[in-house]
Amino acid sequence: MSMGARIKGLSVTPGIAQGRAVLIQRSAGEIARYRLDGARREAELARLAAARDAVVRELQALQTRLPQGAPMELAALLDVHLQLLHDEALVGAIRHWISDHGYNAEWALATQMEVLARQFDAMDDPYLRERKADLEQVVERLLHHLNEGLGIEHLAGSDEPRILIARDLSPADLLHYRDGVFAGFATDMGTATSHTTIVARSMGIPAVVAVRGISERVNPDDWVIIDSEAGLVVVNPDACERAAYAERAATLAQDNRELESLVVLPSRTLDGVMVQLLANIEGPHDVPAALRAGAQGVGLLRSEFLFMNRKGALPGEDEQYEAYRGVVQGMGGRPVTIRTVDIGADKPLGPVVRPVAANPALGLRAIRWSLADPEMFRTQLRAILRAAVLGPVKLLFPMVSHQEQLDQALAQLQIARDELAARKVAAGDVQVGAMVEVPAAALLADEFLRCVDFLSIGTNDLIQYTLAIDRTDESVAYLYTPTHPAVLRLVASVIASAERAGKEVAICGEMAGDVQTTRLLLGLGLKSFSMQPSQIPRVKQQLVQSDVAALKAWANAVVHSAQPHAMLAQGPSV
Ligand code: PEP
Ligand code: MG
Repeated sequence: MSMGARIKGLSVTPGIAQGRAVLIQRSAGEIARYRLDGARREAELARLAAARDAVVRELQALQTRLPQGAPMELAALLDVHLQLLHDEALVGAIRHWISDHGYNAEWALATQMEVLARQFDAMDDPYLRERKADLEQVVERLLHHLNEGLGIEHLAGSDEPRILIARDLSPADLLHYRDGVFAGFATDMGTATSHTTIVARSMGIPAVVAVRGISERVNPDDWVIIDSEAGLVVVNPDACERAAYAERAATLAQDNRELESLVVLPSRTLDGVMVQLLANIEGPHDVPAALRAGAQGVGLLRSEFLFMNRKGALPGEDEQYEAYRGVVQGMGGRPVTIRTVDIGADKPLGPVVRPVAANPALGLRAIRWSLADPEMFRTQLRAILRAAVLGPVKLLFPMVSHQEQLDQALAQLQIARDELAARKVAAGDVQVGAMVEVPAAALLADEFLRCVDFLSIGTNDLIQYTLAIDRTDESVAYLYTPTHPAVLRLVASVIASAERAGKEVAICGEMAGDVQTTRLLLGLGLKSFSMQPSQIPRVKQQLVQSDVAALKAWANAVVHSAQPHAMLAQGPSV
């Protein structure tokens, strides 16, 4: 046996995973491809039959609803589509790919479509060639019915671990994969702080992104190792490599158990400074992981995840309330910071609705999006105020750049309160905070602090906007430098502003969970770090060994150095 191919990428969550590849290829209509063992093929045939019956019903319903005077051709076309759904050349052959080759239904469908497409292309008769379009439409409809959730739920409980391989995954796609179907994943696309990466990290499974060509090089069913310690994907490893990686995975699991023993320790530095370690989460399903990691609260609930994958329909007040209630009650009296929706830029609602702007990162996103639709905004504010009755809730506005935005947001909050009062529905008290994600907000921190209770620094966007680097663009990812002096000076000055005002400041961008910067931030006076739950133990390990007073001078020197990176690498002399 020869050694497997090794392809480099960018590590997301450190760890090792191995298993059989499942391919999701956006280019072919975002379908999953994987092989089924003998026992699962019957169920897959039944899934195909159910999808076909659903499409038949859909087309028959369309036929009965054709308006008076609709062209004859339309009814005839629907007939053609219905006939195709009973045509053995299509359906029989798809069944054959499933039962004889073990293809999943989507893969079988796409394969047979390719076979038939070639036959159609070779036809001389232009009328018959045209029928290819009909076939494609029928296949599209079948895929649509099969593809809710990308059809991979069936993999849960399969004997072998599965590794997801895709060109790219949107944050919305990732929500489908939370249920432990995959042991790890790799994508061609992705950068250190793109939302895909952030959501991937929150899944807590080993992942490597920006692995160029991975979706082309891996075939369904290949054995794949995700080595996200080294940022590597190994394709078709030999037996020795598999065994070595299995051993390494066991050692890492042991290390993690040791880190978990830190959970019960107070998060206090050597010189007695109490530091808050908070969790970044997307919804109630993340609460158990946050608590297991020892989070003292939620520093960032990215509420936009409630708004995704809904085909444009937004969640109503009650539905949002239920989600916030789940988090607030789940956190059992610990503070929960709910950020109002941050839709736009790299977090679209899904396959949506509003036209995409030329420069989405500079366009209608976050608080701008909310203020542009006050009804929608107040629906969210009312749901949050109701949840605040159940426990301590902090409200956070994303991407504030202008004082007027804060004024308007606070005015909407008051109206939301009045609306609840008019309905005689109880509303709780909330602390109000602004995110510092654009340089303008960092420079105006003193002013903003006069009308909010706290600040939270979103370093992911602050870096993007300070350095003019699109955080999702791989071609400039090498310039995305969290330790750039300009970024560090902005962070330091915001922390200092909050200290002067006697108000709280947190960091909730990826910088908070990066152990390379933990001591620097402690030295600058930061006392509240919010991160993915899986990062909490390592950051805690750093802080319980730090002496904040002794770090101050060094941290100050780092921030004012022209080469902070080198000083950070060297570490403090204390
Ligand atoms: C940030 O920008 O740092 C942040 C926490 O917000 P998000 O990553 O959701 O844009
Ligand atoms: Mg942000």
